[in-house]
Amino acid sequence: MNTLSHPAAAFRAVERLVHGTPTSDGAGVRLTRVLTQPLQRRLDPFLMLDAFRNENPDDYIGGFPDHPHRGFETVTYMLAGRLRHRDSAGHEGLLGPGGAQWMTAGSGLIHSELPEQEAGLMEGFQLWLNLPARHKMVAPSYRDIPSAAIPEFTTDDGIRVRVIAGASHGVAGAVQRPDTEPLYLDVHLPAGCRFVQPIAVGHNAFTYIYRGSVTIAGSEVADRTMAILANDGAGEVCIEAAEPARLLLVAGRPLGEPIAQYGPFVMNTGEEIEQTLRDYRDGKFAAAVIQAL
Ligand code: MN
Repeated sequence: MNTLSHPAAAFRAVERLVHGTPTSDGAGVRLTRVLTQPLQRRLDPFLMLDAFRNENPDDYIGGFPDHPHRGFETVTYMLAGRLRHRDSAGHEGLLGPGGAQWMTAGSGLIHSELPEQEAGLMEGFQLWLNLPARHKMVAPSYRDIPSAAIPEFTTDDGIRVRVIAGASHGVAGAVQRPDTEPLYLDVHLPAGCRFVQPIAVGHNAFTYIYRGSVTIAGSEVADRTMAILANDGAGEVCIEAAEPARLLLVAGRPLGEPIAQYGPFVMNTGEEIEQTLRDYRDGKFAAAVIQAL
């Protein structure tokens, strides 16, 4: 029997594989809810990840008509297709392939997200990132980040990394956020390559494979699968691809605060949700003044 204590592994292991739940939201948009409500505590500060990939316009044409949010941030990242958004302060923007929108709902706004195409592929993701209790009621803000404004680099092996938030291999991402310090990477791996990314010990992390398949610390992760990475003391994740693969890698510092969600509102307590419903009923969201992030 080996009585020596084992040092932490070099690389984070896969704790669990998640395939997500097919559902529809908005006006009949078919999507897969990959990060669902039961995983919010485990993946704190992330509240939701939706993946959508529809060829048939019937599955996306309705889009997401006017709806409110309060208490967190939404990050929309498009791979294919175009979404036009409008909000209650009169702002408008077009999200195109490879582009992102980072929206801080804060104290509340009403917006719509509608397809600007009637045919062809619509593919992308929406991630919800929580705000700490003391920032849930900040003035709403948003930023459109066109594809060309997302920093990226290519390694000597040909691995392409798009840095939406946080930093990777010395490249700062398009967005930096305090408190939760989110890392959000889109990684394109050629066959036979491995990508190593430092992730702070104690930060919750997951990857979502959206093309091909990969191996992480000996575990196979198939296409359209989320791997929750273990908080096992390892300071890095190593992702290996035998075939070409693409994936999102997401990590952040947990807030450790109570989570109270009612649909598009995420606060800390039931009383705050009740107040939110009263504010929405009283028209306070429509009057929001929205700033540039
Ligand atoms: Mn929305």
